[in-house]
Amino acid sequence: MKKISIVVPCYNEEACIETFYYYATNFLNSISYDYEIIFVNDGSVDLTAELGQKLATVNNKVKLINLSKNFGQESAILAGLEHAKGDCAVVMDCDLQDPVELIAEMLAKWEKGYKIVHTKRSQQKGVSWFKKITSKLYSFIFNLLSETKTKLIEGDFKLYDRQVLDEILKLPEKQKFFRGLTGFVGFKQTCVSFNRPKRKAGKTKYNLSKMINLGVDGVVSNSNKPLMLPFYFGSVLSAIAGIVFTVFTTLLMFKIYLPLTAWLFPTIIMLFSFVFIFMGIHNFYLGKIYNQTKNRPDYIIESKINFDND
Ligand code: UDP
Ligand code: MG
Repeated sequence: MKKISIVVPCYNEEACIETFYYYATNFLNSISYDYEIIFVNDGSVDLTAELGQKLATVNNKVKLINLSKNFGQESAILAGLEHAKGDCAVVMDCDLQDPVELIAEMLAKWEKGYKIVHTKRSQQKGVSWFKKITSKLYSFIFNLLSETKTKLIEGDFKLYDRQVLDEILKLPEKQKFFRGLTGFVGFKQTCVSFNRPKRKAGKTKYNLSKMINLGVDGVVSNSNKPLMLPFYFGSVLSAIAGIVFTVFTTLLMFKIYLPLTAWLFPTIIMLFSFVFIFMGIHNFYLGKIYNQTKNRPDYIIESKINFDND
């Protein structure tokens, strides 16, 4: 019998983890696949670890990885996927915003030979307009800068075939950004759409600064195009400077003097701001290279439950 690994990153999900287990097992027991549910407790400071342990005690198909601190969702996903033993793995949120019933549709696509099944949110409930707009804008910018063919599709709710998983896990890069890596690895991919409901309980773990960090990291991990921006900008600017210089010298020949000083101050400020922005872009990449050379692990495990029989 084929086995599915369900990987669930959890950060302070005491309000959701039991309900998730209830819905997930109800569904997984109704289909003809073996399963494991891997909860990755990403350094929660509430009762997530205790509740996860309780669920792992009553059902040995439930596995729990406790990370030593909060490493972030992508690292928690990586920890779960590195421990997954299934023929395919589905990554999903603990808060039931990713409906478990959709897994049936994803499995059907997988059985047809697709190696990655993305999910696309047709409608989202309980999400602020600000988050909706910024996430659409982010997808747009990401796809514009993307160097691979596959487009970024929101969220981490995806099914990965074992072969794809092995290829992604083999990659030596740190701080893997899974949404972008699907474009890099290739293979046959498809997508299923769903209406994303509200969080069942608890609050989103993403504030604005966490969203910006994840977004910037995603672009920097997957594209070198921002590094080219200063070159293009500089080229356009020098062309403009050439034209302005020609116009001014022509006017001078006719003894027409323009009040240049009024323009000088804002122009200098604007140019300096671009210099700082471009330095900042470089520094994002520098930070990424520095992190890679430090070679620290993406996560540290404090304890594991129910992995002994593997
Ligand atoms: N999460 C995590 N570590 C973090 C932040 C989030 O493991 O540092 C988990 C969280 O518990 C949830 C999933 O990642 O299961 C998605 O987080 P959330 O629901 O807060 O994000 P949203 O759906 O609001 O984008
Ligand atoms: Mg969520």
